[in-house]
Amino acid sequence: MEITEVRIFKKEDDDKKLRAFATVTFDHCFVVRDIKVIDGSKGCFVAMPSRRVKEPCPRCRYRNVIRSRYCNQCGARLEEIHSQKEKAGKGNETPDPRMRQNEHRDIAHPITAEFRDAIQKAVLNAYEKEKA
Ligand SMILES: [Zn+2]
Repeated sequence: MEITEVRIFKKEDDDKKLRAFATVTFDHCFVVRDIKVIDGSKGCFVAMPSRRVKEPCPRCRYRNVIRSRYCNQCGARLEEIHSQKEKAGKGNETPDPRMRQNEHRDIAHPITAEFRDAIQKAVLNAYEKEKA
């Protein structure tokens, strides 16, 4: 698969870690938006578009962002429910390690290291050009 176009949308505020958004076109026919250029401790890297993982409240079923302390709809305390669930879930289900570290989940992402590198290089090159 070929990256045929990269568009960079710089963020005005230079203090933030999020430096730019990128829109990448693959093979002239598939577009992924909201790819992020993030300034990390080891230089810039590219993050794929993601959404916040949500979890229904056990009392009212309102979908709160995972690890919220209280339900946004009914005010039920969610913290205890989480820890009880984690204890009860031991041995039964394998916890998703990505979910533990992170409340965000990728919407679209490369599945090979090679293609991840290709996307990162293309986006960072375009970002450097845009900056200059
Ligand atoms: Zn609730």
